[in-house]
Amino acid sequence: MTSERTRERMIQRLVEQGITNVQVLEIMRQVPRHIFLDEALSHRAYEDTALPIGHGQTLSQPYIVAHMTERLLGAAAKLDRVLEIGTGSGYQTAVLAPFVKQLYSAERIRPLQELARKRLRQLSIHNVQFSLADGGLGWPEKGPYDAILSAAAPAKIPHSLKQQLAPDGVLVIPVGEDKQMLTQVTRLGASDEYDEKTIGAVKFVPLLAGVVR
Ligand code: SAH
Repeated sequence: MTSERTRERMIQRLVEQGITNVQVLEIMRQVPRHIFLDEALSHRAYEDTALPIGHGQTLSQPYIVAHMTERLLGAAAKLDRVLEIGTGSGYQTAVLAPFVKQLYSAERIRPLQELARKRLRQLSIHNVQFSLADGGLGWPEKGPYDAILSAAAPAKIPHSLKQQLAPDGVLVIPVGEDKQMLTQVTRLGASDEYDEKTIGAVKFVPLLAGVVR
């Protein structure tokens, strides 16, 4: 179920769904998605679907991970410092890390963060720093960021996230409650002005305040 053929089928599907960045496809071929799930679910890891990871949260669908990663790669001028909001299982973190110099990843649920940390260590991914915090506030001490990616949806884009973008920095974030839109925000140079465009309808878990220990 976690064989090379199963993984290859996932990559084929991503291509059919419109993912064209060969580096993203190659990384997703390499990263073992099944280790980011509970053993009882690992046989479903390469299916074209989001899957539960406990605490009411989900591992994002492969297409969404590919799509968001491809977006960041195409839109940001550089990816030296990147903030991820919603580490969850750590899968998106593992896919993004090879493209980034230093990745900062915030998660509000401690048990999820601990598992993700372990898995990334197991994969010898060492350029990630974790924070147990409300990522909706960003991580101001480590910013500004060339790019910010959120895997959880606020009702409105938090201004603190925009403010933590470096000049020409890019934020990709699902926005909305019942109906969500994946949205790309670009800081215009070093100014306090931002360009905003919607990319498409999506379904993410909500961005919530507070930390769960
Ligand atoms: N990319 C992850 C997605 C996990 S789901 C994966 O593929 O596994 C989104 C995650 O965002 C959940 O783990 C949830 O706990 C987390 N989250 C929600 N609101 C948050 C917040 N304000 N700060 C940090 N993490 C948050």
